[in-house]
Amino acid sequence: MRIFTASLATETNTFSPVPTDMNAFKAAFYAGPGEHPDTPTLCSSVVPILRRRGREEGFTVIEGTSCWAEPAGLIQRQTYETLRDLILAELKAALPVDGVVLGLHGAMAAQGYDDPEGDFLARVRAIVGPDVLIAAEFDPHSHLTALRVANLDLMAAFLEFPHTDFEQRGEHVVELALRALRGEIKPVISTFDCRMITIFPTSREPMRSFVDRMQAMEGKGGVLSASVIHGFMAGDLPDMGTRIVVVTDNDKVKGDALAAQLGRELYSLRKTTAMPMFDTEAGLDQAIAMRAAHPEMPVTIADVWDNPGGGVAGDATYILRRMLNRGMDNFAVATIWDPIAVTFCHAAGEGAELSLRVGGKSGPEGGEPLDLRVTVMKVIDAGWQSFRNSRVTLGSVAVVRPVGTNIDIVLITSRTQTYEPDIFSNQGVDFAEKSYLLIKSTNHFYAGFQPISSEIVYIAAPTSYPTNPATTPYRKASLELWPRVADPLGLDV
Ligand SMILES: [Zn+2]
Repeated sequence: MRIFTASLATETNTFSPVPTDMNAFKAAFYAGPGEHPDTPTLCSSVVPILRRRGREEGFTVIEGTSCWAEPAGLIQRQTYETLRDLILAELKAALPVDGVVLGLHGAMAAQGYDDPEGDFLARVRAIVGPDVLIAAEFDPHSHLTALRVANLDLMAAFLEFPHTDFEQRGEHVVELALRALRGEIKPVISTFDCRMITIFPTSREPMRSFVDRMQAMEGKGGVLSASVIHGFMAGDLPDMGTRIVVVTDNDKVKGDALAAQLGRELYSLRKTTAMPMFDTEAGLDQAIAMRAAHPEMPVTIADVWDNPGGGVAGDATYILRRMLNRGMDNFAVATIWDPIAVTFCHAAGEGAELSLRVGGKSGPEGGEPLDLRVTVMKVIDAGWQSFRNSRVTLGSVAVVRPVGTNIDIVLITSRTQTYEPDIFSNQGVDFAEKSYLLIKSTNHFYAGFQPISSEIVYIAAPTSYPTNPATTPYRKASLELWPRVADPLGLDV
């Protein structure tokens, strides 16, 4: 048995001011054939999993290239075509194969391509023919298109948001692919379009119970897999929106019925899934009150929408400026993306005091730059943080402290959202001693920060992210979705 595996992934925010080119892939994660580390990355876990299982179970795995760019704006056409054609050439060189297992994200958009993953999968199918199994793992913040379903034999998305289960879902996809290749099952995909777009954190109800129940269905009664494609509201593309995916063992009728049933249930929960968020002033009031009540641990303040993981620049200053103006002290900030400021700090050196313009450079939506007199506390050539078992680069890093304060600001050059508290400790910041931790992430931080925080306050501050689908000026996405339309499925009583 011969299986080809590769990964081509990023998440495209079509509203982002940050274009995506080859450098963005090379800077975030790029591993040529055989170079993938044994540790998984978010969208490429199928590669090391197959490598290990091939070794243990005695089948041949041919590894292609794996790459990932931090979410940002539209992918340069040449970049997408170069990476696509590279992996397709690796696949051709690997022929004959029995199966192809891919790590995708599912929310890419490139210049001239509204459905790059569909285009890629159709080309893979054209190369291997109709009888070779094609399987893929997706991020739920993606778009499901008919072209993808037509060219895939099986698929699954991470169930958890935060995506703490990306590795388990990689194992799940690999396991189903191997069982199909051994003739034990015949996977068939069913989908349901929920006609809506919102966010679905599984760290709280009602999604916690919904995904637990969905997962409990897997492996029983011919149901092989069930996933929610949450959709990605910052990707203005024709297929944006929430979908259900069910994979059955050759039982399309049952799969269609189950997908529709789960889809209608999720639809009925649509007004309740998002976490409660504060505006900036009310959120800071709440943080101060929580700190007074629980002084033993920091209060984590999440800048929900200035989240580079959703494709924005991650250099908004809005909440930080208000914290400074309100006289809040003894806090740490991770992170602000600012290559110019980091360059200046490295040039000045540790211990230097200088006037520094921080953040606010990518555009006006997240607030003006902050002009601060700072001490350079630390400079690091290659900073990093964890995300569960994987390691996420921060690029070149500087930690600065405004003079006369106990405030530490982590400035980075490789855009990433905040995942784990070691984003502070790895850069020499003792987060446990701080009163507040201001971080940039929608919900991926939750698993890491919940245990070290007395409280988590979600703040929806201004940013370039399109946070309200009811008013976002979409041009390609369907406008017949909730919340633009009150009840598009006509199920409300
Ligand atoms: Zn995601």
